Amino acid sequence: MSNATMFQEALTHFPGGVSSPVRAFRAVGGTPKFFKRAWQCWFEDEDGQTYLDLCMSWGPLILGHAHPAVLAAVSEAMQEGLTFGAPSRRELALARRIKEMVPFMEKLRFVSSGTEAVMSALRAARGFTKRDRILKFEGCYHGHSDGLLVKAGSGLVTFGEPTSAGVPAAIGELTSVLPLDDFGALARYFDEHGFQTACVIIEPVPANNGLLPQQLEFLKTLRELCTRHGALLIFDEVISGFRVAPGGAAEMYKIQPDLVTYGKIIGGGMPVGCYGGRRDVMGVVSPDGPVYQAGTLSGNPVAMAAGLATLELLTSSVYSDLNHRATLWAKAFEKIPGLHVPHIGSLLWPIFQEGVRRSDGVKSASITQYNKLHKLMLDQGVYLAPSGYEVAFLSLAHDKKALEHFEKAVEKVALQMHNN
Ligand SMILES: *Cc1c(COP(=O)(O)O)cnc(C)c1O
Repeated sequence: MSNATMFQEALTHFPGGVSSPVRAFRAVGGTPKFFKRAWQCWFEDEDGQTYLDLCMSWGPLILGHAHPAVLAAVSEAMQEGLTFGAPSRRELALARRIKEMVPFMEKLRFVSSGTEAVMSALRAARGFTKRDRILKFEGCYHGHSDGLLVKAGSGLVTFGEPTSAGVPAAIGELTSVLPLDDFGALARYFDEHGFQTACVIIEPVPANNGLLPQQLEFLKTLRELCTRHGALLIFDEVISGFRVAPGGAAEMYKIQPDLVTYGKIIGGGMPVGCYGGRRDVMGVVSPDGPVYQAGTLSGNPVAMAAGLATLELLTSSVYSDLNHRATLWAKAFEKIPGLHVPHIGSLLWPIFQEGVRRSDGVKSASITQYNKLHKLMLDQGVYLAPSGYEVAFLSLAHDKKALEHFEKAVEKVALQMHNN
């Protein structure tokens, strides 16, 4: 079956024909590619076409698709059983590795997705502080739990919905939302609500509404205000964790959050999330404390094996290598007239404007241009995320050969963009 016939069938099974909304290609137009198999930074679709992948399953695959070490670890683990619903040694090994990479991690719990990690961290923060109100930032995405689907980045802005329907107003009211990079709004918020706030959650490297680099001073101010008001600071590092440095953005910016959430890379392509941080805060989590949180497949041995095999290969030299590649790829991409590619670590955002730090700074004209770029690049065999509000992900598999393929595609697309 071809992509097109599969998508026709998919439309009869799933809303929008997909299992997650942005995959539907609604923003950029055209038919979604059905992936048949993937290796390194390449994939083949059901039409038999090969593409260079710059979306990389939205972040988990920092080693590339189907990395041999990850596959070996998974097949070894799976021979011993797919799930136990009981403690097993691989949880210990992954926890140890996480603590090596993230020195402030005192206690943690494994869950099965980033959404679950964040949802659970919020509950722990509320249980610990005995406060209800939370603060988030416009354009930051923290998964799809009710209280966080307010002005939450790509999936929502792609479809022009500031906040999801189906979220009761009463729940939304406990979530305050501020623009990023606005010191005045932050100070006013804390004056009014600081002492009622359970926690502030932020993507320290906001990467779900394009890439919106924050000033170090903004994040430091946030840390100080939280401490002064007894509100917990939660870094949502589901994307930036193990991506921008071994210890994520917390290490890169030298700011210690009270709790941190991980997903994506931590599972190496399998469904894993985790939340953790301060021992005293995590002490409220059941069965040690009164905050309930559980999961049938939490700490799944096969998923733990994939995560561990991935994190074991992430030594500090990997990060300088990846950052260097990001500079090369960004430079190559900027041969497209008018295109800028801000990047942090191996996250790159192709956008037709400069210097954006807040979600309301993204111009719709830039997104329209991106949609055109997306299609032209796809025609040249390069798969970018199907939304201009999403970033591109590099991996250790994006080697010289891939860069050459990319440069050739860019050269052709540069001419086409110029001509219309
Ligand atoms: C992807 C993401 C999530 C949600 O993770 P899922 O595994 O998709 O539930 C949460 N926060 C951030 C910052 C993310 O990028």
